[in-house]
Amino acid sequence: MILVKGKVVECVGDEMMAIIWEKIKYKLILPYVDFGKNLEVFDLTLENRVIYGDEIVLDAAKAIKEAGVGIKCATITPDEKKCEEIGKVLRSPNHIIREYLGGIILREPVICENIPKIIKSWVNPIYIARHAYAGNKDVHEMCIEGKGQLKLSFVDEISGVQTEKIIAEETKDGVIGATFIEEYAIRAFARGSMEFAVEKCLPLFLSTKSTILKNYDGLYQRVFQEVYENEFKSRFEERGIFYNFILIDAMVAKAMKSKGGFVWAMKNYDGDVQSDFVSQGFGSLGLTSSYLMTDDKKVIQTEACHGTVKNHFKKYLRGEPTSTNPIASIFAWTKALAHRGQLDKNEELVKFTEIVEKVCIATIESGCMTKDLAAALKNNEFESMTENDYLTTFEFLDKIAQNLRSCMILPKM
Ligand code: NAD
Repeated sequence: MILVKGKVVECVGDEMMAIIWEKIKYKLILPYVDFGKNLEVFDLTLENRVIYGDEIVLDAAKAIKEAGVGIKCATITPDEKKCEEIGKVLRSPNHIIREYLGGIILREPVICENIPKIIKSWVNPIYIARHAYAGNKDVHEMCIEGKGQLKLSFVDEISGVQTEKIIAEETKDGVIGATFIEEYAIRAFARGSMEFAVEKCLPLFLSTKSTILKNYDGLYQRVFQEVYENEFKSRFEERGIFYNFILIDAMVAKAMKSKGGFVWAMKNYDGDVQSDFVSQGFGSLGLTSSYLMTDDKKVIQTEACHGTVKNHFKKYLRGEPTSTNPIASIFAWTKALAHRGQLDKNEELVKFTEIVEKVCIATIESGCMTKDLAAALKNNEFESMTENDYLTTFEFLDKIAQNLRSCMILPKM
């Protein structure tokens, strides 16, 4: 058994991914890894959040920060209807954790040679570096009822001077959203993105819409350029890589036509949207690993980039077989344990995570896969598929477990 020497925080989640999560833990991790007292589990299922509120998510975030390592299963973010049904307004758990930890969300495709990409020209990975907070996802909203003047104002704490901007001289019945980001947070995001590009030895692009949001997006553009010129230019040049700013609409078109092979830095909401596009372009949402890294690089919180896969859970509840891809969740475990291993200089643990990842890829490359990947092989023409083309969720997990067993009894790699 491989001993885990430092603390790991596990956050249990909802629906189909919760079912898969447990299987991953008991079939792929616990037979080989002994956490002793080092696994702290937080129950973030919706049922538990209804009882304990968002505070339990905040407690999990605090524990992750203290431990340095967190692994999170996908969770339900209740929409307005669901909040009415449960009689409580609950926030997105991811949002609460990201707000507390800050930092940067890094997304990497898991590339399998036999899975055709929907975007055929993408022969190299595209990594997304997404700012973990602020922007449209952290907007302060206010409903306006009645008629009147709408303005933004800021009061300087020391001088007491008030700066105002009139948004509308006369407006009525509507809604306003305001968002704010401190410059230091953009600077940390720029440094994190650039360090990541250096580590991967790939060019970095930042994309925003600074032609429209001249101040807000303009600050991202200016700060990235400054950080690049003052802190990273020589390191980029030594590696033959570069940094460029490109407007987001032009960058989407450029990415589509590219061969891949770059890091793409974006604000919070833009990164959220584009990462699904990039994941799907590489074959499936189930093939993208995602982790949040704090600005000081000390804390990592991993997860799958997709949600709880509710439509499959409904089938599961009806007793029908499902074919849900567990790869991104398995990689959430491996990436987190690899970070734990690096923090503790626990080479055995790091090596184990590499073996698990290799086994996952080799299993798919041997032709055993879930329906989403089999569909990619058939040009996503679902109507031409039969049950012989893919494995069910549990058959696929069993196949990985079997392949892992045969690797783990071989002499140490
Ligand atoms: P989803 O990512 O669960 O599913 C979107 C679509 O992609 C569905 O058609 C689904 O079948 C497919 N899909 C996603 N992952 C797959 C996989 N591993 N294998 C096969 N197919 C897969 O998103 P959704 O349906 O919009 O949301 C469901 C729930 O998940 C919601 O409550 C939402 O709030 C939550 N959510 C959570 C997270 C998170 O915790 N990280 C992220 C997104 C959504």
